[in-house]
Amino acid sequence: METRKGIAVSPGVAIAPAVVLDSEQFRIPRRSIEADEVQAELDRFHQAVDRAQAEIRDLRQRVASDIGERLGAIFDVHDALLNDPRLLGEITELIQREHYAPEYAVSQILKGYAKKVLALPNRYMSERVADVYDVEKRLLRNLIGAKRESLNQLTEPVIVIAHDLTPSQTASLDRSKVLAFATDIGGRTSHTTIVARAMGIPAVVGLQSITADLSGGDMVIVDGNRGLVIVNPDEPTIARFREAEQRFHRMEEELGHLRDLPAVTKDGHEVRLWGNIEFPHEVAACIERGATGIGLYRTEFLYLDRDEEPSEEDHFQAYAEAIAACQGRPLTIRTCDLGADKFTHLSGDYDERNPFLGCRSIRFSLQHVATFKRQLRAILRASTLGPVRIMFPLVTNLKELRQAKMLLADVREDLEEEGVHPRADLKVGIMVEVPSAALMAEEFAKECDFFSIGTNDLTQYVLAVDRSNERVATMFTPGHPAVLRLVRQVAEAGLAAGVEVAVCGEMAGEPAYALLLLGLGIQVFSVSPATLLEIKRVIRTATMDEAREIVDKVFQFDTDREVDAYLAEMARRTFPELTA
Ligand code: PEP
Ligand code: MG
Repeated sequence: METRKGIAVSPGVAIAPAVVLDSEQFRIPRRSIEADEVQAELDRFHQAVDRAQAEIRDLRQRVASDIGERLGAIFDVHDALLNDPRLLGEITELIQREHYAPEYAVSQILKGYAKKVLALPNRYMSERVADVYDVEKRLLRNLIGAKRESLNQLTEPVIVIAHDLTPSQTASLDRSKVLAFATDIGGRTSHTTIVARAMGIPAVVGLQSITADLSGGDMVIVDGNRGLVIVNPDEPTIARFREAEQRFHRMEEELGHLRDLPAVTKDGHEVRLWGNIEFPHEVAACIERGATGIGLYRTEFLYLDRDEEPSEEDHFQAYAEAIAACQGRPLTIRTCDLGADKFTHLSGDYDERNPFLGCRSIRFSLQHVATFKRQLRAILRASTLGPVRIMFPLVTNLKELRQAKMLLADVREDLEEEGVHPRADLKVGIMVEVPSAALMAEEFAKECDFFSIGTNDLTQYVLAVDRSNERVATMFTPGHPAVLRLVRQVAEAGLAAGVEVAVCGEMAGEPAYALLLLGLGIQVFSVSPATLLEIKRVIRTATMDEAREIVDKVFQFDTDREVDAYLAEMARRTFPELTA
């Protein structure tokens, strides 16, 4: 049994055998073979070794003649491994004695080697682990060849272990079979983890080398509340976590009674508690948990599993579905936030050196006017069906907002000419998620109807900390005084101008921050469906005076550590059941 600590990103506990995806997305199940298949499987293994050796010799020769003998020699290590009688003997023995399929035997033995190499004290030697992984992959490629198994072919419940998952891979996971996932890399507000939370899949990320330590079929526990992954747990541990799993569900049920109660403080101050969605079908989950509107619809997820751009009709159909599900509640449609880590294959034909600082979001839309107009037409057409609001992401300067509004006006005019009459009172808002927009909030307030603070990106850009990089995850703190000052500035500018201020970043869904945001005057909390009831519970525990006292106290601190320690302590005292 081994316990690994990562970053808890999506709550819940799950216990199941692992399916390990390597970086090439091979799936290596723990498959057994019959006794009478052993010889044929051994032959298959030896053929794979022969092919791998031939590839290495060929590669060595080509590199030596094209680039030089010394570089060709890097393949000597691979060659030596593939000819090592001890290594080959250990794999053969697993096939012969344990009746494991060769793929599993190869991955099991080479992972063991990799672990030993990684443990070597000499850095030069431990870096040779890349060679071991390379040989593992080469053998697996030769064994699995064209008949790769994919996650679509799962028949039993599993936990997915991967180096990384893209947001679209995560969104495509079969929720009935994938009970949880754990990855080597990633951070708390990466889009992958946002999707996991939306789908209610417990997840732990940033485990660094979990793919190297696990083989397919190993039993694992993923504790998405505490960021733990336990490999090959013993029986008492399994029993303890089953109990935790049940406790988690019980708490969910207990919060259920809050569903139809208003999100109001003890002294009668009401806020709007709305949901964040990626797909129209998620509206139902939000309403089920008492959301009175949708504050963020991430429409870029329409690009999921598509090689072509969605048509105007594709957009329209999705919006019409979401509007119908909202049953008269407001729906805030954010125009596509393409680029950075989302659907990058569509965002240009070259790799960007700094994608989060590149052609992303509204910048992408304004550089692809036809695509943008197609979406704007669909939103305006959909506005005839219900209370739709439109929101532009990553606005950095007023020029972008003006351009986007001009295009919106153009599209409206075209539609009017066609006899379609979009909502006259359509509200237009911006996401405040870069420092320049926050600092210029007063000016922006004169030209839009609402603000929605995207604290995921705002934190990333204020602190210069990549939101999806586990190596700087501890520096990603929305509680940093610099972030909080900007949030306060936006809230004050909105309040002074009569412009509604929402927070739709993950910060709004964290109980410890909720009272602080309340005290800052935030009017709309837009959170993932999983956290709606918790946040309602928090809001209903306090008075506005108490929330303002928290603000006063927090703004006296000058480090994120003090802020977070104070808020965590407050949370423990005020709503202990949510922080257990
Ligand atoms: C944000 O940045 O806080 C936000 C809500 O947008 P996204 O997470 O989709 O980038
Ligand atoms: Mg954002």
